[in-house]
Amino acid sequence: MKDSEVDVLVVGFGPVGAAIGCLLGRYGVRTLVIDKAKEIFAAPRAIALDNEALRILDLVGLSDGAFAKLPIPYVRMRCPYVGEFAKVDTSGTIDGYPKLATFYQPELERALRKLVTTHDCVATATGVELDHFVEGEDLIRAHLTTADGERCSVRARFLVGADGASSKVRALIGQDFAGKTYAEDWLIVDALNVPGTFDHVEFMCDPRRPTPRMIAPGGRTRWEFMLRPGETREEMEKGETIRGLLAPWANASVQIERKAVYRFHARSCNRYRRGRAFLVGDAAHVTPPFVGQGLVAGLRDAANLAWKLAWVVKGRAHESILETYDEERRPHATKMIALAKLMGKLVMPRNAAIAMVTHSAMKLARLLPGLRGMIEGLGIKPKPAFRRGLFAKGRGRLQRGSLLPQMLVTPETGTQALSDEVLGANLALVGIGANAEAHLGADTRRRWADHGGTTASFVAFASADSERDATPMPERGRGWCVVVRPDRTILHDGPLADADRIVREAIGILDGVAT
Ligand SMILES: Cc1cc2nc3c(=O)[nH]c(=O)nc-3n(C[C@H](O)[C@H](O)[C@H](O)COP(=O)(O)OP(=O)(O)OC[C@H]3O[C@@H](n4cnc5c(N)ncnc54)[C@H](O)[C@@H]3O)c2cc1C
Repeated sequence: MKDSEVDVLVVGFGPVGAAIGCLLGRYGVRTLVIDKAKEIFAAPRAIALDNEALRILDLVGLSDGAFAKLPIPYVRMRCPYVGEFAKVDTSGTIDGYPKLATFYQPELERALRKLVTTHDCVATATGVELDHFVEGEDLIRAHLTTADGERCSVRARFLVGADGASSKVRALIGQDFAGKTYAEDWLIVDALNVPGTFDHVEFMCDPRRPTPRMIAPGGRTRWEFMLRPGETREEMEKGETIRGLLAPWANASVQIERKAVYRFHARSCNRYRRGRAFLVGDAAHVTPPFVGQGLVAGLRDAANLAWKLAWVVKGRAHESILETYDEERRPHATKMIALAKLMGKLVMPRNAAIAMVTHSAMKLARLLPGLRGMIEGLGIKPKPAFRRGLFAKGRGRLQRGSLLPQMLVTPETGTQALSDEVLGANLALVGIGANAEAHLGADTRRRWADHGGTTASFVAFASADSERDATPMPERGRGWCVVVRPDRTILHDGPLADADRIVREAIGILDGVAT
């Protein structure tokens, strides 16, 4: 490590730093991932992931059984005064993944760390802290200290700050962490051997003590208890206090596995980049966990940034494309934080009167199908679609800047498979229903390959989700071609016959010379 040079230095080996390390490894980028801690953080944190996060973890390279997931059929919202006021349907799949699944964060982190080591181009070092860095014209020089107090420096073309909510990288690039810190503390308890058949997520929105409860793999149940004024961390983390809180659900055989008191924050930087340094995950944004989107947002950052860095490092795209990381990710992360804050208002009503009014209003809203769909059918969740960024302007048949739906496809050669498996980690021109490559001239083919482009054709396709017989995309996509970024975002689309023009325009976008 001493005085070495890499393409990308990732500061922070939490789940987001590890995911970006795996992706950069998959793209063949010389990377060093460091962390000041020697061990994986063990306290209870993320418990739920959505279909988008699970899709990204597949892209990262984690095999299906790499960590345990428990699909959650529904999320119930209850009020002590008006009863159940919402029941969000999280059953079924989107893009072939459960809409909501619980997991055990340390197990996921271990799997990611193991996967990183399979990439020869990625080195990792724990017990190594970033002190500061100096940015030159072409390189960053990062100054590090090991756990033994030894100092060294590493040169890197780019630095990724995945160093969590108290990010030093964020401070070094002079970013404020604007937003709010909640006044309340929460006790989080993970327990094993809990009797009963509870199988979902439930929010008891009691102003006297809001209490979410959820089931997780490995026979775990999590409770979250909001602290009342005057209750202290020390007192609440005591075994007898926790047993008292759990008494309505659990007997003496229950094993308390983990506990921690947290204060939640809703914050985001104004910029996720300065020069050659980028912020990802909790270093860039933190959210209260009421909609389970903190780590999910970090994984979206990793997928968005990693391929752009790789394409620039390998000379396949102009450095200016890196500006689109902030442009694409920040508005979406901010919308998710706003949704979590809104949910926080329902979960933590300030008093009985507010609880009665807001929860009754929610209950009444169930009578209106449109509103009910928005709330209970997840319509309120911000869509994975960008307004501005690295994709062709204008409208095709498909929504450029949104995620390509996952399909069950039959390629021209080969057997039926999920479309993401066929696309791999590539930038691809995909012919829907026919071969698009045949429409490319020799010069365009060569330039496409120079830009890391590949081609694929899906001659037959069906939805990846059993409960939907056809996703809208294949129907609109027939006879069409689409340029898909490695993070599955639609970069361009158009008629198959225009594939040559579509690809040349896509190349212009990667070169930073076209819109
Ligand atoms: C109670 C709770 C419940 C949650 N529930 C959910 C949920 O259900 N779903 C969800 O998606 N998210 C949830 N989250 C959020 C999720 O846990 C975080 O968003 C996620 O763990 C952040 O990962 P990260 O890699 O960005 O940061 P971290 O995991 O914090 O990793 C940062 C790493 O950087 C290292 N580091 C820091 N400074 C330096 C330095 N100077 N040099 C070297 N290394 C450094 C640290 O040691 C650390 O290992 C929850 C959080 C909490 C607290």
